[in-house]
Amino acid sequence: MTAAHGAAPASAGAGSETAEPLVWLNGELTPLSEARIPVLDRGFIFGDGIYEVVPVYVLAVGEGEARVRVPFRIEHHLARLKRSLEKVGIANPFDEAGWRALVARLIEANEAVGALARDGHANVYVQVTRGVAPRGHAFPAAATPTVFAMVNPLKLPADAQREHGVRCVTAEDKRWLNCDIKSTSLLGNVLMAQHAVENDAFETIQLRDGWLTEASSSNVWVVKGGALFAPPRSNRILEGIRYGLIEELAEACGVRFEAREVAGAELREADEILVTSATKEVLAVVSLDGKPVGDGKPGPVYAALYAAYQCAKQREAQLQAQALHARATELQEVEK
Ligand code: PLP
Repeated sequence: MTAAHGAAPASAGAGSETAEPLVWLNGELTPLSEARIPVLDRGFIFGDGIYEVVPVYVLAVGEGEARVRVPFRIEHHLARLKRSLEKVGIANPFDEAGWRALVARLIEANEAVGALARDGHANVYVQVTRGVAPRGHAFPAAATPTVFAMVNPLKLPADAQREHGVRCVTAEDKRWLNCDIKSTSLLGNVLMAQHAVENDAFETIQLRDGWLTEASSSNVWVVKGGALFAPPRSNRILEGIRYGLIEELAEACGVRFEAREVAGAELREADEILVTSATKEVLAVVSLDGKPVGDGKPGPVYAALYAAYQCAKQREAQLQAQALHARATELQEVEK
């Protein structure tokens, strides 16, 4: 087995951080080692909370190759955060502008103390729980949501994993039927991630009653005869922010996409299998349960979508740089 197939994605894009990170906890920036939550927080007692993970790239734009930090597709992440909160009946502590400001402040603060390399990609983790209350299953009459956020170096897949693809295994999906909620109750997903580690695989791809759902922390895509298929959005999968993105990119690349149920047999006979997530972007699966997928190499649809994904990042960087420039010009005009 080569390093490309190992379970742990190697670091790329991470800086040489040494200083202690600052985390956001209920309105305060606190050193990570000092951040505390009460033991009666319902996130701890019941897993009663939701979360988000936003990739934040550092990309060079324009002629001067100025670098910008790009919270990639953040509006989609914040919309999903809002949806998850609504589905579990937790009040959203911020509007979109408030969340954006929190993310920007967290990044700036960590850069300032040297906990985040200025040229390093990052991922921002945000968690909201129902708050602290005496233990009792039903919602407490009054509780203030706990808001926690941290930023970590973004560990993208290693070059070897990009080049050679990764091995996956399958297992029965035994999770609850609200997988569309990005809940912190992740025990089912944790067990599936551990199943992959114990089987020397990168991910576990799950099937429910013989039909493909998703992997422990990724959406799964199947290619057959040049067309791309994925299970439709439903309560049986988390709609990854890359779900809509891959739909757009497939169309731009001239790859036909159909959202439809995928049987286990189709998964096993696929020409290509892809997994997507914020930290994996899009990655080729070259072996499933020890058998090669297609010819056992990353295929042409993977190559096209991976290239298109990199262009989408660059496009978003340009748009954000233009917006920043426009805003700066506007401020100068006001000051004149
Ligand atoms: N499905 C599950 C269960 C996940 O945990 C994730 C990401 O963590 C995804 C799908 C992919 O979502 P996204 O593309 O937003 O990272």
